[in-house]
Amino acid sequence: MKIKHRQRWFFCILAAIFLLVSLPVWGAADGFVTGSVVNVRSGAGTSYSIIAKVEAGQRLELLERSGDWQKVSLHTGQAGWMHVDYIQAKEVVKKVIVKGNVVNLRTGPGTGYAKADQVSSGTSLSVYQEKDDWYQVYVNGPGLCWIAGWLVEDAVSSTSYIVVKTEVLNVRSGPGTNYSLATKIGMNEKHAVIQEDNGWYKIAIGSVQGWVSGDYVDVIRPDGQTVVAPNPPATGGESEGNASEPSNKTVVVNGGVVNVRSAGSLNAQVVAKVYAGDRLTVTGQQGDWYQVTLANGTKGWVANWLTNPEGTLSIPQDNSTVENDVLIAPITDGKVFKIVNDRGRAVLVLEGWNTDEYRIRQDSGTENTLILEMDGACERNYTGKVTNLGITEVSIKPVSGKGQIRLTFTFPPATAVVYDTTNKVARIQVSTGTAQTKELTGKTIVVDPGHASVQPGGWLDPGAIGKRLGLKEKDVNLSVSLKLKTLLENAGARVVMTHTGSTNLSLAGRANVANSINADIFVSVHANYNNNSSIAGHSVYYYAPSSNQVLASQRYSRQKLATMVQREMVKTGGRSDLGTKESNFAVLRETRVPSILVETAFLSNGIEEAMLASDAFRQKLAEGISNGIVAYFK
Ligand SMILES: [Zn+2]
Repeated sequence: MKIKHRQRWFFCILAAIFLLVSLPVWGAADGFVTGSVVNVRSGAGTSYSIIAKVEAGQRLELLERSGDWQKVSLHTGQAGWMHVDYIQAKEVVKKVIVKGNVVNLRTGPGTGYAKADQVSSGTSLSVYQEKDDWYQVYVNGPGLCWIAGWLVEDAVSSTSYIVVKTEVLNVRSGPGTNYSLATKIGMNEKHAVIQEDNGWYKIAIGSVQGWVSGDYVDVIRPDGQTVVAPNPPATGGESEGNASEPSNKTVVVNGGVVNVRSAGSLNAQVVAKVYAGDRLTVTGQQGDWYQVTLANGTKGWVANWLTNPEGTLSIPQDNSTVENDVLIAPITDGKVFKIVNDRGRAVLVLEGWNTDEYRIRQDSGTENTLILEMDGACERNYTGKVTNLGITEVSIKPVSGKGQIRLTFTFPPATAVVYDTTNKVARIQVSTGTAQTKELTGKTIVVDPGHASVQPGGWLDPGAIGKRLGLKEKDVNLSVSLKLKTLLENAGARVVMTHTGSTNLSLAGRANVANSINADIFVSVHANYNNNSSIAGHSVYYYAPSSNQVLASQRYSRQKLATMVQREMVKTGGRSDLGTKESNFAVLRETRVPSILVETAFLSNGIEEAMLASDAFRQKLAEGISNGIVAYFK
C-alpha cells in the first residue's frame, strides 16, 4: 500500500499533535462530546462567554471539575469549560504505538468493516476498548475507530503502574485503611500510579481516583523493574479474603495434580504438588484460595475450585462425563468409591471398607471388565465414563441387595491392591498396559477456535473473510479445532474447548478457561489475513514480555510450544514457513499457562483460501498442530 508524500507529512504532524497535546496519562480517562454541538465557555457556568464549539464524538482532555462543570482541553490546545451532561468519560486502557508502515483504521473491530482512515508507523494512540485483537482508538477526523492489535505495540509508560495480585482489592479515598472505600478492583488489573505515599499508591479507575495498599500489588517502574507484592496476609487486610472458614476444615483434592503455591494467586511460586484424593487441612481462606497444611507440615495455598469439601462428596448426574479426571461416589453411609487420576493412571480408591467387605473380579464373559462387589446397599445409581483413563464405562448399582461397581476398560485390567488397615482405605492400581502409555496421557489442553463471539444483536464475529470464496475464518477455525481435539484425545490428552460453535466469552474469558483448570497449555486456532494477497504461509504466535512476570517466567515454554507447532505444521501443511512471532494478543497475554495462537494459512491468498476450504488440508493442519504439541511435551 502506497501513500502520497503530502499525506505522510500530515500524519507526522498528526502524530506530533497526539504526542504533545492530546494524550492523557495512561490509566486516566478522556472525555468525549455527547451532544451534537456543544458550547465551550470561558468559565464554569452559562453566564460565561462561549469560546469554542465542539461536536459529537470529539475527544477532550479532562482537566479539573467544578460542580456540574468540567474544564477541558481541546485538541487545539485551547482550554474551557463544558457542562458534564455533554461529556462521556472513557478510560484509557493502554497506549500503543503503530508499528506497521501505514495502517488502516476501521469503523469496527475487524477487516470486514469499512476503512475510516490511515495512520503511519510511530503514531501513538490511546486505547479505550479491546475486542477480538482489535483496539478502539481515536484520531481527529473519523473520531473513534478501530486498529488491529497486531499492528501496534504497547507504548512504554513514562509512569509506574500497579498490577493487582489479589482477587478483589479495596480502593480507598486516602492512603490508609481508615479512609472510606471508593471502589474495588480485581486480579491482574493494571493502573498507572499518580502518586505514592508510604506504601500506598494513588490510581484512577475511570473518573474515580483512589488509593490502594502496596501489600497487594506489584509495582512496575518505568524502567521495567518490578517491586513484587509481599505475600498477602492469610486473612483480613485490604484484600477481600475473610477468616470465616473453620480452622480445621478438611478438603479433598479433585484435580489430577494440583499445585500448592506460596500465596493465593496463580502467579505465586509452586511450593508443592498434591494429587487427586489427597486430604488437606484448611487453615485460612482468601478469595477463591485455601491456605492449607500438608501432611509433611508444608504450608501453602491451593485454588478452592480444585478441591471438594470433605463430607459433601458429590456423585455426578446419571450419564454425565466426569469433569475433573476423578469420580467420587458415596456408595453407602461412610463408604466412598473414587476413581483418581494418578498422573495418567487410573487408581480405584475404596474408603471405609474392611478387606472382607469387597471383592474384585473380572467378568468371565468380557475380558476388559472389572467388577467390584461390595457388601451393603448402594444408595445411588450412576453410569458414566472417564475416557482419558481408558475407562469407557462406569456403572454403580445395587445387585441383589449388594453394591456393584462395574468398570469397562479399553485395555485388559490387572490390579495391584494396597490396603491401609488404620484408615480402611484400599487403593487399587489398575495396570496401565500398553494402551495407557500414550504421549499425552495426563495432559489437559484447552483448544480455542478463534472468533465466533456473540455480538450485540446476536450475530457471530466471523473473523477474517476469504477474498475469493468468502470463506469465514470462524468456520475454518472450528473445523481445524475439532479435528485437533480428536487427535489430541487419541493421544491421551484431556481436551477442553472454549466453545464449539459460538461463545459469549470475552478474549480474557477464553484464556480463563485454561487458567481456571490449570491446564497444561492453551492453543488458539486462527486463519490469517493480509491486504497483500500474495502473502501466504504458516505462522505461530506467542507472548512472553519481560514486563509480565508470569509470562516472562514461561518464556522458554511458550517459545518452545510455538516453535514445535510451527515446525510440525510446516511439515504437514506444506506451505511457506513464516516462522514464529511474538505479539501481544489478548488470549496470549491473559493466559497464565503456556499458550500459542496458530495462524494456519491466509484467507486473503487465493490458493490458501481454496486449500482452507478442503477437509483434507484442515486435517493436515490439525495433524501438524497435534504433532507439535506432542513434540513440546517430549
Ligand atoms: Zn483470527
